[in-house]
Amino acid sequence: MYGSDALFVIVSVIITISGILAIFIPFWIFRIRNEIIKTNKLLTRLIELNGGINPDHYIIDSSTKPTKQCPKCGKANKKTDSACIYCGTNLQNIL
Ligand SMILES: [Zn+2]
Repeated sequence: MYGSDALFVIVSVIITISGILAIFIPFWIFRIRNEIIKTNKLLTRLIELNGGINPDHYIIDSSTKPTKQCPKCGKANKKTDSACIYCGTNLQNIL
């Protein structure tokens, strides 16, 4: 019986310490969240001070463009449109 009493004490102490630490976990998460927000704001400010992100530096693939061009009138339409909103040409076969 002596051995099981010692085990009970050890397990009780571990559970008690775990419970006390668990109370503070939300505060740690909240602090980490606030630090990430602060760091992101600082990085955004640094990017702005350096002239911002220049979109010309990025090569835009035509397949990722949000628009598709009408073959008849040449105007841009939404990728989801099935017909040109300017001339009515069928755009279903155009990617
Ligand atoms: Zn058109």
